[in-house]
Amino acid sequence: MEKTDQTTHFGFRDVPLGDKQTLVNDVFHSVAQRYDLMNDLMSAGLHRAWKDLLINALNPPRNERPFALLDIAGGTGDIAFRAAGAAGPGFQATVCDINADMLSVGRERALARHLEHQVTFVEGNAEALAFPDRSFDATTIGFGIRNVPRIDLALAEAFRVLKPGGRFLCLEFSTVDVPGLDRLYDMFSFKVIPQLGQAVTGDAQSYQYLVESIRKFPKPNAFAEMIRAAGFLRVSHQALSGGIVALHSGWRL
Ligand code: SAM
Repeated sequence: MEKTDQTTHFGFRDVPLGDKQTLVNDVFHSVAQRYDLMNDLMSAGLHRAWKDLLINALNPPRNERPFALLDIAGGTGDIAFRAAGAAGPGFQATVCDINADMLSVGRERALARHLEHQVTFVEGNAEALAFPDRSFDATTIGFGIRNVPRIDLALAEAFRVLKPGGRFLCLEFSTVDVPGLDRLYDMFSFKVIPQLGQAVTGDAQSYQYLVESIRKFPKPNAFAEMIRAAGFLRVSHQALSGGIVALHSGWRL
């Protein structure tokens, strides 16, 4: 949970609230080119299954009916591409991210997939989205919310830009509560991932931050409460892979 004395967590470190975004931006600047490869290595490919479960829940129309998705902190566009693959020709996705390096990798991927007309990339801050009220049929955020300094502002923005009847879906790392798996997961997170990050991106520290930030993120029930506080209704969450990840959902009704 964010602290009230204008400091917040950057992994296990306490930093002034205003500094967190700069530090987070450095992390993603450093890893952008190899971000997708690292996702596969770190999760043994599981992030694909977690994202596919989000897309199933999103259930975009498979016909020409217009459907506008905003993928917040969408990085290199993975969620938007998967949604486009499951949707019909009426589907449009906007990927919004604060980091120009992640977006430029995403734009190249869109061109390679011939999806540049269906998936567009916009630089922006999740805490202050530059989109009108009630302009999207769905808003998603995958593994991004824990990097945002003021989570409450980001949730309020995800609500504001959503049309009534629209759904918010959020994937985020969660709390492993399966005996045995928790110790294995700790060992993998703190011993293996930073070394893997060093080998693949030349940057162990960024991955050290990423695993620490997972432990500092609110527990699923507390995060669900924050989603409710932003105005969402029918809020629910589902633990995936023994609680490594949770899929959170809320509706604007
Ligand atoms: N959603 C993508 C995925 O699942 O592959 C990328 C997730 S990546 C772990 C986190 C992303 O959050 C990074 O691309 C980072 O630039 C972005 N981010 C961090 N702070 C942000 C902010 N305040 N506003 C928008 N994006 C932000």
